[in-house]
Amino acid sequence: MLVSEMNRKECEELLARQSLGRLACAHENQPYIVPIYFASEPGRLYGFSTMGQKIDWIRRNPLVCIEVDEIIGATEWASVVVQGRYEEFPDTSEYAEPRRKAQAQLEKATSLWWQTAIAVTQTRKRVDRDMTVFFCIHIEEISGRHGWPDPAEHR
Ligand SMILES: Cc1cc2nc3c(=O)[nH]c(=O)nc-3n(C[C@H](O)[C@H](O)[C@H](O)COP(=O)(O)OP(=O)(O)OC[C@H]3O[C@@H](n4cnc5c(N)ncnc54)[C@H](O)[C@@H]3O)c2cc1C
Repeated sequence: MLVSEMNRKECEELLARQSLGRLACAHENQPYIVPIYFASEPGRLYGFSTMGQKIDWIRRNPLVCIEVDEIIGATEWASVVVQGRYEEFPDTSEYAEPRRKAQAQLEKATSLWWQTAIAVTQTRKRVDRDMTVFFCIHIEEISGRHGWPDPAEHR
């Protein structure tokens, strides 16, 4: 297998093709990671969530990491890691436009953008279906690695 670095454009193209990633956050030295849907545009990602552990933790520490990949097989894959800063879009008139834009981008990225977030509230003792959050992650660093089969290995 050969592995190479992806440039920023290749990384952003992968983010644009995909809508499912793993969002990692940390609180008091304890990492926490969950799958989430997202939408992307150059320089930022958008997401939607109900209230729970990840939003509690990210509000305390807005530095997050997202991993997104395309895996065709063990020797053919691409993976992008984003280091970013979380910004919440509260349900106020000041944030009406960012919220509208986040929702529009999420709708374009996946029809499932809200369903899983809402469905997971069934696992909580307290069901706060009204408490939803739109957010964006400002991309501060991005890196990508691309693996593909080495023809020499098959000779
Ligand atoms: C394909 C997919 C897409 C998803 N998209 C979104 C999305 O866009 N937005 C969104 O908010 N959620 C999404 N989810 C659900 C998400 O992964 C979390 O389960 C959910 O957001 C609850 O996280 P929380 O931190 O609020 O957990 P809480 O409800 O506060 O529960 C915390 C506890 O539950 C455990 N837990 C929480 N989630 C998971 C999990 N996925 N797997 C195993 N244990 C878990 C934690 O370890 C912790 O102990 C998606 C899940 C999948 C599988």
